[in-house]
Amino acid sequence: MPPHDVSDHTEQNEYEGFEDVLVARGVLDAGQLESARTISRSTGEDFVEVIVERGLAPRQAVMSAMSQYLGIPYRSLVTDDIDPRAVKRIPRNMAFESRVIPVSIDAQAIVLAACAPLDVQAQENLSFASGLSPAFTLCDWPDIRSALDHFYPRVATSEEAISEDEELVCVIRLEGGRLEEEECIDSELDEEKSADLLDRLIASSVKRRASDIYIEPGADKATIRFRVDGVVGKVQEVAREVYAALVSRAKILSELDIGEKRRPQDGVIFMTIGDKDVDFRVATVPTIYGESLTMRVLDQTSTGADMRLLGFEENDLAIVLQALREPSGLILNTGPTGCGKTTTMYSMLRNLDGMATKIVTIEDPVEYRMENATQIPVNNAIGMGFAPLLRSVLRHDPDTILVGEIRDAETAHTAAQAGLTGHLLLSTLHTTDAPEVLLRLMEMGVEHFYIRAVVKLIVAQRLARKPCPQCRVSYKASADELSEMGLPADQSVDIFRAVGCPACSSGYRDRTGIFQVMPMTPKIEELMVPGVQLDAIRREALDDGMRTLWQNGVKKVLEGQTTLEEIRRVLPR
Ligand SMILES: [Zn+2]
Repeated sequence: MPPHDVSDHTEQNEYEGFEDVLVARGVLDAGQLESARTISRSTGEDFVEVIVERGLAPRQAVMSAMSQYLGIPYRSLVTDDIDPRAVKRIPRNMAFESRVIPVSIDAQAIVLAACAPLDVQAQENLSFASGLSPAFTLCDWPDIRSALDHFYPRVATSEEAISEDEELVCVIRLEGGRLEEEECIDSELDEEKSADLLDRLIASSVKRRASDIYIEPGADKATIRFRVDGVVGKVQEVAREVYAALVSRAKILSELDIGEKRRPQDGVIFMTIGDKDVDFRVATVPTIYGESLTMRVLDQTSTGADMRLLGFEENDLAIVLQALREPSGLILNTGPTGCGKTTTMYSMLRNLDGMATKIVTIEDPVEYRMENATQIPVNNAIGMGFAPLLRSVLRHDPDTILVGEIRDAETAHTAAQAGLTGHLLLSTLHTTDAPEVLLRLMEMGVEHFYIRAVVKLIVAQRLARKPCPQCRVSYKASADELSEMGLPADQSVDIFRAVGCPACSSGYRDRTGIFQVMPMTPKIEELMVPGVQLDAIRREALDDGMRTLWQNGVKKVLEGQTTLEEIRRVLPR
């Protein structure tokens, strides 16, 4: 397919050029073209579908014209033509977004059925995702759509399942109990029942705002736990056969190998609950009692977060926004797993979005979708780890690159090179605080002069839960608590305590980020010499105005954004 580079993303019209061909070939007259254009623009319906559905021209004529215009063959498409191995190479979201279905595959190329011209960005995304060069064939959209629905099915769960949440626990207990009583330990729940159980479990997790569902086997029972606002709580214990049914069902839906129980696997379940699309990443890990299963909600809504809403202090935010205006260098974000790094990184990217930048992300896995960005999943099975992908991405000369994580020397080194050669690179590490990142980079063999030249900003973060506004209780901090917070003993300070009510049950609702923002100052750059001690970096950063995570946490406690218990739980002292 010839490139249709559309530099102005705001007024994108993939059919520009083709419209003239339709008139030139006499498929439409000028008036018909204008009305198809107008209807398409005002309803958001696809231009070709408008022409065909409103009877302006037969589909065959429109598509033949497009085939000639794009210089690719036009053919019919039936489900049997499609090789499932090809389908596996293209992620669902990308296939739907570009309205293509992979048809066949060989060592060099993947053949994709498309129904409309694709811009360069979309073609690049497909090429990156498949690791192959794409060849196109033109097919009718209704055929492609039904193939997409067939090969990337979405599981529907009714809204009633959510309203029956309270019954969930009873149902699982009942199912488990009944089976035990009847001593049919080896029998399997029938398919319909196990489907129902998983549906209810998922609906219940959505209603409770859980981010993860854990199904963990034990010697004679399995435990189901939910993670809500970052904290894991037990939901229910279930009998082994209920566990087996839940795991099998989840594996079927996420297209994992049911028979494979000894090796970790992961996949995605695409679900529609009521009228809301909720997708889950499913991962299995073998344990001595069988497979342990984690289902994580892939929440597409939380990624648009305004940086102001993440919890940055006003002056820290100014420093971050300043760093994002740098044309090149490294911006690094650090903290333990689940501390909100991905959300922060995406907020940073969105801050760049809209400017004239080309953004590429390399992630393991790609969890959030971002328009106008090329998103590439790491695939270690075919040797496509962070470092090799980053090297190949650099050949496409993007302005901004997000690398999911720097966890080895090779990636660290390639990232530093990228930052030195005119790219702004964002990535994450696992360290206790921001100063420690510099030491970690040195440990991974990045030369000190590289670090000095390339690192622009380091952000450390944690997530702390907010006390539920309906049940929190205000109280005067004790002398011990004042001293713990580093405040004078005679100060009178009101802070909140979490209590718990039917609305929140845990006493908490939602979370806020606690950040430590450390810009690379000239004095810290000077410290980047072999053998530098972590304490020296920390001291210099504090002298330069950086605050510790604890200090920023205390500030959040005093503002009523979180509680003292909570920052004790999540922050290093
Ligand atoms: Zn409450």
